[in-house]
Amino acid sequence: AALALSGCGRADDTSTSSGSSSGGEKFPKNSLIGVSLPQKTSENWVLAENLFKTDLASAGFQADVQFANGGVGEQQNQIQSMVTKGAKVIVVGAIDGSQLGTQLKAAKDAGAVVIAYDRLVKNTDAVNYYVAYDNFKVGVLQGNALLEGLAKKKASGPYNIELFAGSPDDANAQVFFDGAMSVLQPKIDDGTLKVVSGQTKFNQVVTQGWKAENAQKRMDTLISANYSSAAIDGVLSPNDTLARAIITSVKAASKPVPVVTGQDSEVESVKSIMAGEQYSTINKDTRNLVKATIDMVKAIQAGQEPKITDTKQYNNGVKVVPANLLDPVIVTKDNAKEAYANDPTLSKLTG
Ligand code: BGC
Repeated sequence: AALALSGCGRADDTSTSSGSSSGGEKFPKNSLIGVSLPQKTSENWVLAENLFKTDLASAGFQADVQFANGGVGEQQNQIQSMVTKGAKVIVVGAIDGSQLGTQLKAAKDAGAVVIAYDRLVKNTDAVNYYVAYDNFKVGVLQGNALLEGLAKKKASGPYNIELFAGSPDDANAQVFFDGAMSVLQPKIDDGTLKVVSGQTKFNQVVTQGWKAENAQKRMDTLISANYSSAAIDGVLSPNDTLARAIITSVKAASKPVPVVTGQDSEVESVKSIMAGEQYSTINKDTRNLVKATIDMVKAIQAGQEPKITDTKQYNNGVKVVPANLLDPVIVTKDNAKEAYANDPTLSKLTG
């Protein structure tokens, strides 16, 4: 069948097949695969680095795995240099999903396939696929956990809460927040939840750079402005690093620890949950996300269609990016033992 190839965003299929490749291979198995990761803003990225290095190598690829701790400019340079070195697939966990257009166009022009990893890249047609945990569902699970934790604490509302979101340059931050607000907004509207500061809009509650110190500072300010006499019952936190910063701030103000959500199953937060402080986290097992990404790389190499579970949700402003979305799991003290049963590190913490 004659497929309309123009404008479909796929790299060309013939330029790199070597004579020894069996029919259908898109490029030789030992080709270079670039992986460009953002800053180490949470443990999942560090775990991903090691898994990409070892598992791409054991699948027979050459791996070039880089962090961009210096920021957006460094990530742009790294991606450009992966293109120059002839990477056949470039996996990108973007710092700022809107600032890689030039480099990804260069990748596309060179015939490389681009996979957005964990975070969507925006406003470019030069991204072929997206692999992530379902970000909207993460937010829904966080919103539900907050309501559940509050109900356990006090039989009925109104509950005083505050809202935090992640870094606005990370496309995930808005999606997490929208998922959570799909659950919380009706409860704000009916008076069950009271956001005492009045700050309920995404741009009022973001945390630049996903930095703990920024969340801690904002929480300090919220407490002194709004909670000198009132109790804080709960805080929506988008991830574990920020959850712990929020708890630190509350403790420093000598307030009881409220119900605080999280995400990532970071070691210190799992400990905190087991100790009865942080209320919840999300298990997004990095091993599964890296495996899904490498499976995608293998399919592309073999000239096959990779696994796609969603072709609607992730419009990046220019195109809907076909995605393989994995299922996140909510974790509280109640289910931590079973949730981490097959995790060699975390299972040691759940008693
Ligand atoms: C990831 C989260 C993580 C955050 C900060 C997000 O894009 O999806 O798991 O907490 O980045 O590193």
